[in-house]
Amino acid sequence: MNENLQDLYQDIILSHSKRPRNEGALDPHTGRAEGYNPLCGDKVTVFVNEHDGRIAAVTFTGEGCAISRASASIMTDMLSGMSVQEARAEAHKFYTMLTSSEEPDLDFLEAGEVAALAGVRQFPARIKCATLAWHAFEDALTAS
Ligand code: ZN
Repeated sequence: MNENLQDLYQDIILSHSKRPRNEGALDPHTGRAEGYNPLCGDKVTVFVNEHDGRIAAVTFTGEGCAISRASASIMTDMLSGMSVQEARAEAHKFYTMLTSSEEPDLDFLEAGEVAALAGVRQFPARIKCATLAWHAFEDALTAS
């Protein structure tokens, strides 16, 4: 990865962790779930409001490291407005991006800010930080 891109990704993560989007409890909500990462101490609660198979809104509360907060913030931005099916597919793409043995071939313009988290794959101990909110999101969905 070239250095400029790495700097950009670093900036995106810092900006989201300092000023998270969609932070706060969601009322009303159709589902909520908690996640805890004992390795790092990250805690997250994800609130979902589903309506007719679509994600009307997703928010989160919690505390944790910059990666866990940035990931939760980017996720809520990204999944709001998607169908439940699309959102689940994005979650699985995200897990694959972080854990597949092959280097992900990501186009920043296409993938959006979530691409900034791809670098986490180089730090296996931090992968749980990045995936915590996404697993909680899936747990919060009522439709299976
Ligand atoms: Zn963490």
